[in-house]
Amino acid sequence: MRFSGLRVLKEGLTGNKGWQAHWRDAEPKSEYDVVIIGGGGHGLSTAYYLAKNHGIRNVAVLEKGYLGGGNVGRNTTIVRANYFLPGNSEFYSHSLKLWEGLEQDLNYNTMLSQRGQISLFHSDGQRDAAIRRGNSIVNQGDEAELLSLAQLKKMVPFLDYEQQRFPIHGALISRRSGTARHDAVAWGYARGASARGVDLIQNCEVTGIDIEGGKVTGVQTSRGAIKAKKVAMIVAGRSSQVAAMAGMRLPIESHVLQAFVTEGLKPCIDHVISFGMGHFYISQSDKGGLVFGGDLDFYASYAQRGNLPMVEHVMEAGMTLMPAIGKARVLRSWGGIMDMSPDGSPIIDRTHIDGLYLNCGWCYGGFKAVPGSGYSMAHLVATDEPHAPAARFRLDRFRTGYGLMDEEGTGMQHNLH
Ligand SMILES: Cc1cc2nc3c(=O)[nH]c(=O)nc-3n(C[C@H](O)[C@H](O)[C@H](O)COP(=O)(O)OP(=O)(O)OC[C@H]3O[C@@H](n4cnc5c(N)ncnc54)[C@H](O)[C@@H]3O)c2cc1C
Repeated sequence: MRFSGLRVLKEGLTGNKGWQAHWRDAEPKSEYDVVIIGGGGHGLSTAYYLAKNHGIRNVAVLEKGYLGGGNVGRNTTIVRANYFLPGNSEFYSHSLKLWEGLEQDLNYNTMLSQRGQISLFHSDGQRDAAIRRGNSIVNQGDEAELLSLAQLKKMVPFLDYEQQRFPIHGALISRRSGTARHDAVAWGYARGASARGVDLIQNCEVTGIDIEGGKVTGVQTSRGAIKAKKVAMIVAGRSSQVAAMAGMRLPIESHVLQAFVTEGLKPCIDHVISFGMGHFYISQSDKGGLVFGGDLDFYASYAQRGNLPMVEHVMEAGMTLMPAIGKARVLRSWGGIMDMSPDGSPIIDRTHIDGLYLNCGWCYGGFKAVPGSGYSMAHLVATDEPHAPAARFRLDRFRTGYGLMDEEGTGMQHNLH
């Protein structure tokens, strides 16, 4: 079933009786060519591109809960390609280009809104860093622009430009960045994969990974054993636990990240804005809620909920940046489990076990990566060769030093990412 304006009109006039389920709720078969563990954004996009780009359709996505119930449905929906370091830069650039054609490709409204992302700077040193980052983004072939204080005041008048503690000096804007509707992205990929023959199996928890003679042969699940020629672990915050089923100890820590939304307000924030002196960022959803977040809860945890000290920390940063936010009432807050790698960058790689692949380490930034990650992961699983934009996301980089990246540009900060 194709979606179109005409279709919406027709259904509206005929009692909305013609809509179909977006995907088949499949029962597990005994064997697949590829089993993907995890029905989040990355698992679903991998399944979609395996079928679409490589013609591999005998694929199952096994999800222990419901599709899109993990981080893909819990994030603050920011999509951007303003990464600094070689490795990340070209990967996120590729991903943003896929975003720009995604609605047409999936025939699904992901509500991509390229409203621009503004990163504030508050000192001469931060201005230098912003210019350096901007130049690197431009060299990569994407766009970045420095905003003077006067330009910024015109575009974003409601920030506190008077406060002296963290004076705002200007900003770097990436105009093609913005937001997308996170659930729609999961649903769109699920629908596209299912239409191409992929089995999407919900309420199916993987409890074991079968390995014989150094080769993966299948998985054990809460709904029985399933054989597979290849298995891809794409479970974000649960990566360490699932990889442990294959006897692997990953360079990943799981931490909670919280986010918040206020009651619906009239349109007042046109961009995504990041505070450069505190970990705080904010945008306004299409429903009018102010969506914002901050730092991780700095202890390892598998709890999908946050703690009060971090709530206070985020609110303080918000009040410092734009005191007017204090008048808005917070409606909800929630948490998701982040898969933090030591250098803050992801892993898309084969493992030492034949036929077993790993995709993780997205930290707090993996929503924007959903199209690029699925594209590159599908390439890897189908061909056993790394896809060029993701070639540096090697699992062994923490041992060998090859492919090592550090988004902050400040050296490895183990336990902080
Ligand atoms: C509060 C918050 C704000 C964020 N904001 C942004 C943002 O603005 N921009 C951005 O780019 N990124 C953001 N992120 C990060 C982004 O959401 C994640 O990096 C990304 O969604 C992770 O990939 P995923 O979608 O595949 O994960 P998930 O959706 O978590 O998918 C993993 C799936 O694996 C399943 N699973 C786990 N174990 C098993 C098992 N044993 N068997 C079967 N299934 C299993 C889980 O149930 C889950 O559905 C944010 C995250 C949070 C929590």
